Amino acid sequence: MKSDKIITIDGPAGSGKSTLALNLAQAFGWVCLDTGALYRAVALVALERGLTPSDRQEAAELARTLDLRLYVEEGKTLVVAGDREVSSLIRTPEISNFASLFSALPEVREALVDAQRNLGSRGEVVAEGRDMGTVIFPWAALKFFLTAEAKVRAYRRHLQLAREGIVAELEKLEEDILIRDHNDSSRETAQLKPAPDAFIIDGTNLSAFEVETIMIGEAKRVFGL
Ligand code: C5P
Repeated sequence: MKSDKIITIDGPAGSGKSTLALNLAQAFGWVCLDTGALYRAVALVALERGLTPSDRQEAAELARTLDLRLYVEEGKTLVVAGDREVSSLIRTPEISNFASLFSALPEVREALVDAQRNLGSRGEVVAEGRDMGTVIFPWAALKFFLTAEAKVRAYRRHLQLAREGIVAELEKLEEDILIRDHNDSSRETAQLKPAPDAFIIDGTNLSAFEVETIMIGEAKRVFGL
């Protein structure tokens, strides 16, 4: 039976989903599922194999067959693709852009549906991405859609990358975020949009702590935690 003990967090790039999903999962002892990491790992290996987003079938075959595992260690999601730890390699701005292009292919999305549902099958999962509440876990008991103005998201991403030792120009990050927003919202399937029953949070003028407090309050109410 499908468990509905799932919290979904969808929203555009840089809205703070990853940090909030990790914090919520940690607060309740649940599992955190960072689905962007799966698309990023597929994009990384696709590029290494010389594929481009026009190689639709090859990219889908890769997404179907690549052995992808996620672990959370010391508050970070670690990603293993095949026998390689690729956690840092998938976080560069280049891979962000390619993940957005490869993830727009319906064949690639379809190939990753079962993997995502299997990872969430036992419930007690906080799943974050773009289509968690709309496509992957429409039966989730609690759905959030988290957004913020692009300028604010670019600035937060800039700080996050700086902490990881990656230097990225602020203007370029905002430009990339707007392009990814456009790609994610206008693709053929699983467009970025809130589920009809999602709790929408605009975090433009809220701190991460304030957003987290709202989410934890809702989760306690819905799941009686
Ligand atoms: O969330 P993150 O920035 O790591 O995701 C990387 C890219 O993967 C996004 O720009 C988006 O295009 C894609 N993605 C997606 N569906 C998801 C998660 C991520 O299309 N569920």
